[in-house]
Parts: sequence; structure tokens; C-alpha cells
Amino acid sequence: MIVEGHGARSQSQTWNVHANDHPPEKPSADRKNVLITSALPYVNNTPHLGNIIGSVLSADCYARYCRSRQLNVLFICGTDEHGTATEIKAMQENLSCRQICDRYHRKHRDIYEWLHLSFNHFGRTSADIHAKLVQNVFDAVLKNGHTHNEIVPQMYSEAAGVFLADRFVTGRCPDEQCAFDDARGDQCDKCGRLLHATELIDPRCAITGSRPVLINSDHIYFDLPHLESAVKDFMRQNETRWSSNCKEITRSWLSKGLHQRCITRDLKWGVPVPLSHFADKVFYVWFDAPIGYISMTAQCTQHWESWWKNPEGVQLVQFMGKDNVPFHTIMFPATLLATGEKWTLAHTISVTEYLTCEGEKFSKSRGTGISGDDAKNSSVPAEMWRYYLLSIRPEVSDTDFKWSDMVTRVNSELKNNFGNFVHRILKFVTKPSNPFDSKMPAMHHRTGRDKVEELARNVSDSVRHYVDCMDRMKMRESLRTVMAISAMGNKFFQDHKVFKLVKDDVDECATLLNACLGLVLLSAALIAPFIPTYAEKILTYLDLPYTSASLTDDFLDRVKTLEDLIPVGHLISEPEPLVGLISIGDLRAR
Ligand code: ZN
Repeated sequence: MIVEGHGARSQSQTWNVHANDHPPEKPSADRKNVLITSALPYVNNTPHLGNIIGSVLSADCYARYCRSRQLNVLFICGTDEHGTATEIKAMQENLSCRQICDRYHRKHRDIYEWLHLSFNHFGRTSADIHAKLVQNVFDAVLKNGHTHNEIVPQMYSEAAGVFLADRFVTGRCPDEQCAFDDARGDQCDKCGRLLHATELIDPRCAITGSRPVLINSDHIYFDLPHLESAVKDFMRQNETRWSSNCKEITRSWLSKGLHQRCITRDLKWGVPVPLSHFADKVFYVWFDAPIGYISMTAQCTQHWESWWKNPEGVQLVQFMGKDNVPFHTIMFPATLLATGEKWTLAHTISVTEYLTCEGEKFSKSRGTGISGDDAKNSSVPAEMWRYYLLSIRPEVSDTDFKWSDMVTRVNSELKNNFGNFVHRILKFVTKPSNPFDSKMPAMHHRTGRDKVEELARNVSDSVRHYVDCMDRMKMRESLRTVMAISAMGNKFFQDHKVFKLVKDDVDECATLLNACLGLVLLSAALIAPFIPTYAEKILTYLDLPYTSASLTDDFLDRVKTLEDLIPVGHLISEPEPLVGLISIGDLRAR
């Protein structure tokens, strides 16, 4: 259950599998406070796997890791609901904007809940408090003189009774060579030229097909050029903690110089502009949406200002795909800086490249790629989707999703390596014909210690690498390291013939098994940010609380010897297999 508001909080405890995770009301005085956001998905689409790995799943993995490291985490996301696309869709489906948003907000929640995403709050930009906060921010920007008004001629459809955003006007491309008859008002699909709807020859309204008329309309512009040096200062102070693609994209924007930005629209579905002269207008969605991070925090705790107006005490960590960068590194900080108030600005930013599907771009209109619904309706459980997506997370270049690769990786890495290690060790200690009585055996000091020490050294190096990569959001490498550690466990068990030692030298067998069971507990702790339900299952077999797999400094210290990580004599339950095999057929929708 995704947590919603104060009332539903108790429900979160049933699935939000960190026992130490009570949604924090306030920043803590004695722990590091991390405010994590993932880019707000636009409401009127079903998210596809590229959107999912690009922001929400990556942010979830990092949030779970931070909680496990005992940081005070507040993880916020929600749907971005305003704008012309929602209005047009509502008109086409003969529903209200609210109805359209309700329907799609539910769709997003269902998919994220299925994927076990651990938001502390999943909110909406259509909430009343959002409008109030956006208006407050605007009032401060206005008061500080960072806006001006301009008269702009706008396409108006008399038949539909609405102003038309550029992409809802079609007509002939003004490029004489091209002259494509069905060019869109924002761009010609044939020659690629960027356009304004007013440049089209013989323009038509995309909703009714009628000819739109030009009407002059007053609009408010945000003076981005005035804020250029403040934005550059903000970048200088923080960019060492931004991913390299984030820095590149931001630099390229800044090098072209910042321009005036129109922040109002002639629409009804949005945050009303709080000025009588603009009573029939709303804010442009890019102005209101990022403020959603703040208003969604306010939807979840009354102490939202102690998170958002606390740059010394809170680190803001933001996850997004590369198409979202300028909104987070330029527009949003510029807006907050323009208020003259002290806001918590982005400390760390992690930006993913694109995910392609079998070599093609994800595209809803062309029906390529896989949606969250497709994944949810397949026979493959969420755990395996989490595994494969995080293992191919596009961190440095675009990455291709391949059906056959997913099947191979899940079967060979997740099942035959990770799942097999956990299962064989638990099965071994609980096997009735073995002399351990389902209890954690003690290490004997006579034999086998050198073997354990060597394993512990290798595992310890890998754990350090895992932590180092997670801290830098190199999750893909961390996940690879988890698999490398379970491969070490399998090799250890095999090379030292633990299954044979049980007959030949039961003391040495007990020593090695003590280390292996410690490694099972460690595997649960390391896989938890990636596949929390596997960690939960392993801990159920070990009959240990979830907190015993927290990556505390103390735990990481104890892991260095692999000795007695579980109390000697502790009772262990017989396991079911952790991971099943999958085939290509399972990936298709049921
Ligand atoms: Zn053209």
C-alpha cells in the first residue's frame, strides 16, 4: 500500500518492508536527513518501463538503501496532472479533467504498488494545497520584480471554445521545400523544423478540424535572464554531486543564455493565476509541476517547511530521465531563488539515459516498448522486473531492453546463482539427515578457520565496493556485486565440498556452514534495496526481524569476519525455493 496522508499511515507498515521505516515527520537532529524525489510522471499516460527505471524505481532503490544505512529518509513522488494534454483528453473522452486524472492517477499507483515502490507519499498536483503553494511562490517572484507582461497572439478554436496549444494545431509546413500538409504546430514531423502554430499555412484545429482564429492574449513572463548568475552559482556549489550527463545538459543550456519564459496559459485545468487581470488563466505546467515536490511533502507532513526551507539540515536528492534535466537544474531552482527565500535546493542529482526496447525507442503512439501494465499483467513477478531493470539501468549510455536477455539473466543470475545459494545453504542446515537440527552451528577453532578467513576477506572487499557504488548511485554495479558475492558463496560451498564434510569432519563442516549462513544474512541485506521481498523471505526463513539486515556501520563491521552473524543455536526454518525459472512465454501478458 502506498502511503497516503496521515490517516493511511498504519497500512504502510504491512508492505513497506523496513521495520525502522516510519515516515518521518521532521528532519532528525542526530541523523543525516535525505529528501528524495523522483520526477513526477505525467498523469495521462500509463508509465512504460523506460519511465519506471528512469526515475521511480531508481529512486526507490536508493531510498531503501539510505533507510537501511539508518539515514532519515523522506521519499516523495506523485502525478503531474495539469496542462493542455489533460484538457484535450478529457474533451475527447467526454469526461471532466478531474475524472481523467483520477483514472490515471489510480493506474500509476497500481503499477507502483505492484512494483513495491516505497514512497512516503505519492501525491497529486491537483490537490488544493498545491495551488496555494504555487500561488505563494508566484507572489514572491512577482513582488521581487522577476516577471513582466506581454501581449501574445494565440490560436483560438471557436468550434471547440478553447485556446490551442501549438501541438493541437496542424497545417502545411512553412518550409517551401518540405510543404508537408500535416505538420504539427510545434514541429514538422517530416522535415523536423521547430515551429510556432502561427507559422503554419492553412492551420486547422486538431480537435475539430475547423480553422482557428488569432486572438491577442495577455501573458506573464518569468525573467530567467535576471537569474542566470544565481543559477550558475547554484550549479557551481552542487555540480560535483550531479551525474555527468546532468552537468553536460545544464552547461549546454546555460551556454546558449537563458531566455524569458511565458509562465501562463489560456486554459482552465491548472493553478489559477492569483491576479484579477489574469482570472481566466492558469500557470503553465512547467511552472507549477516542480513545486509539486514541495506541495506533496506538505500533503504528507505539516512540518514540510523544516524539509524544504532547511538547506543546512537536509540533502535533496533528485532522480530523473535526461529529458527532465533543465526543469530541475534551471527552471525550478531559478523559480525558488527568485522568491528570495531560503529553500532546500538539489544537493545530488542522478540522471538516467534512455532505455530502448529491442533497439527501438519506447513510443506509446507507435505501440513499441513495454508499459507498466504489460509487465504487471505478465506471469513474471515484480521481483524479476525489478532485478532486470536495475541490472540494465541506463547510467552512462542508452541501454537496450531485450526479452531474451531478461530471461537469460533472471534464470542464470537470479535463480541459478543468487536463489540457488540461499536455498542450498538453508536446505543444508535444515535437512533432517544432517546433524545440525535446523540450528545455527558454532564455529570450531580447530579446523576450517583459514578457509573462512579467506572468504571473509574477499566478501569484505566486495561489500566495501557495494557501499561505495550505492553511495554514488552506481546501482547497476552494486547489484552486480551482490551477484558476485553469492557466486563466491556457491564456489566456497562447492570447492570445500561442505556437503561431503558433513560425513568426514563435522566440526569443520559446522565452521564453514556458520560462515555460509552469515553470508545468507548478508545477501538478504545487500539485495534488500533491489528486491525487498526476497530479503523479507530470506529473513523469514532465518526467523530474524527485518532490522537485523540493516546496513548499519556495526553490521558492516561484523561482516568482516563472517563469524556468528546469526546467534549460535538460533533456529532456522526449511526454505521454499526463492526464485523460479521463467521463459519468454511468461513475459507476455496473461
Ligand atoms: Zn516540414
